[in-house]
Amino acid sequence: MAVDSAISSPLGPPACEKDAKALQFIEETTRNADAVQERVLAEILSRNAETEYLKRFKLHGATDRDTFKSVIPMITYEDLQPEIQRIANGDRSPILSAHPISEFLTSSGTSAGERKLMPTIQEELDRRQLLYSLLMPVMNLYVPDLDKGKGLYFLFVKAESKTPGGLLARPVLTSYYKSDHFKTRPYDPYNVQTSPNEAILCADSFQSMYSQMLCGLVERHQVLRLGAVFASGLLRAIRFLQLNWTQLAHDIRTGTVNPKITDPGIKDCLARILKPQPELADFIAKECSKDNWEGIITRIWPNTKYLDVIVTGAMAQYIPTLDHYSGGLPLACTMYASSECYFGLNLNPMCKPSEVSYTIMPNMAYFEFLPHEPNSAWSTRGSSPKLVDLVDVEVGKEYELVITTYAGLYRYRVGDILRVTGFHNSVPQFHFVRRKNVLLSIDSDKTDEAELQKAMENASEILRNFNTSVVEYTSYADTKTIPGHYVIYWELLVKDPANSPSHEVLNRCCLAMEESLNSVYRQGRVADNSIGPLEIRVVKNGTFEELMDYAISRGASINQYKVPRCVNFTPIMELLDSRVVSAHFSPALPRWTPERRR
Ligand code: AMP
Repeated sequence: MAVDSAISSPLGPPACEKDAKALQFIEETTRNADAVQERVLAEILSRNAETEYLKRFKLHGATDRDTFKSVIPMITYEDLQPEIQRIANGDRSPILSAHPISEFLTSSGTSAGERKLMPTIQEELDRRQLLYSLLMPVMNLYVPDLDKGKGLYFLFVKAESKTPGGLLARPVLTSYYKSDHFKTRPYDPYNVQTSPNEAILCADSFQSMYSQMLCGLVERHQVLRLGAVFASGLLRAIRFLQLNWTQLAHDIRTGTVNPKITDPGIKDCLARILKPQPELADFIAKECSKDNWEGIITRIWPNTKYLDVIVTGAMAQYIPTLDHYSGGLPLACTMYASSECYFGLNLNPMCKPSEVSYTIMPNMAYFEFLPHEPNSAWSTRGSSPKLVDLVDVEVGKEYELVITTYAGLYRYRVGDILRVTGFHNSVPQFHFVRRKNVLLSIDSDKTDEAELQKAMENASEILRNFNTSVVEYTSYADTKTIPGHYVIYWELLVKDPANSPSHEVLNRCCLAMEESLNSVYRQGRVADNSIGPLEIRVVKNGTFEELMDYAISRGASINQYKVPRCVNFTPIMELLDSRVVSAHFSPALPRWTPERRR
């Protein structure tokens, strides 16, 4: 029920006193955005004035924007690699941050094939927590009565490793779920989840998923919203249900737990929750044994009001599949964040996915924006780019996000391209356009053109023994299967037909490609089971020429035509698929361990 109008917010009437405070915070921070940004920058620069990095640029203790902008360069991860390596190797001196680096957050963005290591400091957890605390108050403005039930969220921790100097390296969500901020969060009637902490915190992905699904099934009438971080994660959960419903129904029928669940914490939790429920088991078996899984989410969880998953950016490819399984439930994209920094939230979370805009919260970091002009002169000639401040961006324009964080990244290029769609008070709202240089993505993996080319070269080595070469290739992220997988179309030149590569050899080529893809891809294949085996489809000779003819018939210039290294336009896919002569899949898992290769 809305609280009285005395504390109403311009965003809408808050659902409770706690929400009123959160909405008021959003209002104040977004109204005074420029002052907040100035304060954030001054805080970051003054507390880190004695760091090696800031001293190097002779900031001499200045904390104002003009001096900062005139002396501190804009950088990429690669520029910071030497400092990061020293910290990873155990140098505890104040290199980037005056506060001790508490751990490294491993980004899904990679550098030289390995996850980027983002330094973080203890207090950043408070900042992340603060952003999380704003999400439900905003959602409650749009969806009533979320305190009358629970959320079924599939959340997971991932493998951790240690750097040579002994610092933990793990994904930001693993760090958050393992923190007291998450584990001992106070009870909030609007944010009760069916998954017990023990299930979320279990590193074995099967046991974690199984127990979260079981709890969600047992409480199926209480579930008001279903979610995962990304759309791909929720679809993986649906696939898991397809593969495991018989055993899940058995557990529900008998009130006993699958012997594959060995984690003592989970077993204790399930023992408390499970009792024989034959009717529920019958219902689940009846629904899941149907051939048609259309609308399965609302059949099993009939009170679901929305799906809480990110479907912006690379995840947009999953919208049709989610619609199929949910019968078109609203898709809520609530926040925009990264390992480097949490950025902001969606103030209108029930809008259509294509209309999602994220409002940057000016208290999280100091934000600057590099006007995005793909082949602009400065990037090629080295002249200084002009970065625009948060409140000065212009509606309709595209920018690359550049951040200065409390943890010690200064004018760091995140690599995301954003378009300004409007303002909330003085803070811009951004449509996530894309991440730079990503060709293929199924889950959190991001493969760029150079990595695909390297993988191609690795596989081509095998073909050389058969006097065969790849004349042309392109790729496609096939998300019709769950998990999705990379498809690579090859046109081959077989010089010695008597010794042409066999089916097995081409299968090995698939694996050779996977072996040289980055560690996030390989982790998705090996540990998370979020990416299926890579497929090579060999197409008839002349197919790529037909592709060119098609592009030219649609207006491409012959002189400038280049084979697209990734395709997803239906007529092109149809052309390619109609020319396939054989298909081959990776016969094994590529190598992957949590330890870094370097
Ligand atoms: P990571 O460094 O692995 O935490 O990944 C962070 C990146 O994920 C961001 O820089 C974005 O490219 C992407 N990302 C995060 N949140 C969203 C979102 N809401 N919509 C689209 N892409 C997102």
